[in-house]
Amino acid sequence: MSILIKNVLAVLEKDLDFSIEETSIYIENDIIADIGNADYNADVIIDGKNKLAIPGLINNHTHAYMSVFRNYADDLPFSQWLFDKILPIEDKLTGEDAYWGTMLGIMEMIKTGTTCFTDMYIYINETGRAVDEAGIRVCLSRGLVGTGSDEGGRRRIDEAKQEIEYWKGRGNGRISFIAAPHAPYTCDDKYLLNVIEFAKEYNLGINIHLSESRSEVVEIYDKYKCTPTEFLNKLGVFDLNTLAAHCVYLTDNDIDILAEKNVNVITCPVSNLKLGNGIAPITKLVDKGINVCLGTDGAASNNTLNLFKELQFVTLIHKGTEERADVISATEGLKFVTSNAAKALGLDDKIGKIKTGYKADIAILDIDKPQFYPRNNLLSALAYSTCGDEVCTVIVDGKILMKDNEFLTIDAEKVKYQISKIAERLLQ
Ligand SMILES: [Zn+2]
Repeated sequence: MSILIKNVLAVLEKDLDFSIEETSIYIENDIIADIGNADYNADVIIDGKNKLAIPGLINNHTHAYMSVFRNYADDLPFSQWLFDKILPIEDKLTGEDAYWGTMLGIMEMIKTGTTCFTDMYIYINETGRAVDEAGIRVCLSRGLVGTGSDEGGRRRIDEAKQEIEYWKGRGNGRISFIAAPHAPYTCDDKYLLNVIEFAKEYNLGINIHLSESRSEVVEIYDKYKCTPTEFLNKLGVFDLNTLAAHCVYLTDNDIDILAEKNVNVITCPVSNLKLGNGIAPITKLVDKGINVCLGTDGAASNNTLNLFKELQFVTLIHKGTEERADVISATEGLKFVTSNAAKALGLDDKIGKIKTGYKADIAILDIDKPQFYPRNNLLSALAYSTCGDEVCTVIVDGKILMKDNEFLTIDAEKVKYQISKIAERLLQ
């Protein structure tokens, strides 16, 4: 299978900086085989006129099938939202619900240019099945909660191991794994040591929520007399490649630890704002050289999985709160969802760029729209003018998943029908 995207404006990377060039992109099987030469007899030719090709975006923190809880629990304080609303309804979910919920999440991600996501949840095999069928790329993780002594915690680790074994070698390498202790307040010290052992045995990184709310910081301090970041560091969690989501409340010492240990920080600005959790000190983290990425978190706390919305927030809120317009530029933000995100996953030699030899994970935007005229600076436009529904065609692993706004691997009407039925049942 070969695809030629002919005479298209493309976001390329030159010497660590983005550039926009009119070019042609030739894809052979799953790989970008050539950039710049239009003389190919490809199986599929995509006319690039008035189109912008960008590296597929990477959402490094979400819970895809939380899409079934969209707009179910809004305008509530974080602990009420989590403990009174989300956790009880999560108990009612079946594996089949998780499959359809993941499909809905994937539809929304594809529609808004996301080609890879990092997921943490419970029904991993159902999420994997949806990913496998839809053709998107994923880093999966079984959410692990427990104590060093409870049977449930041990069982969840055993299930995670079985899931990894099951998916090994499937999906042409599109499905990878990471170990996911849920958070310092849901895993005690002994359990975290068990998770580290499991991660080392399977050569996995760590995906964890960290310092998301003020109450978490207080709770950990009461229990261990240190901050959540110091707590994880003392246990050795950061000796493994770690994706730490949120990181809203950090001391200067915490920031030094995260920098020294090369922890990847996944900021989720919309979720943090919506749950009243505050604003992460992203400018400080960037200044310290920390690899910052973006996540949407689940659709129950956002309420979309649209990375363009996230990109707009992350580039705007820090300018406002710091009263400095020169912090977190459009191109800086764009790296959060492309090259930085790929680096966090250890996939920076495969995805996150439109580059010869890289995986063909590309989103194409229709820029023949008023918000893209005049074309003074299309990189700025991606952060400040794009809403996401300009994405018309999406390619992952060299396969077209959406063409001219039509899903090719997902029965969209069936997904919407099933989701409506599930929501009706859950809310009964
Ligand atoms: Zn989360």
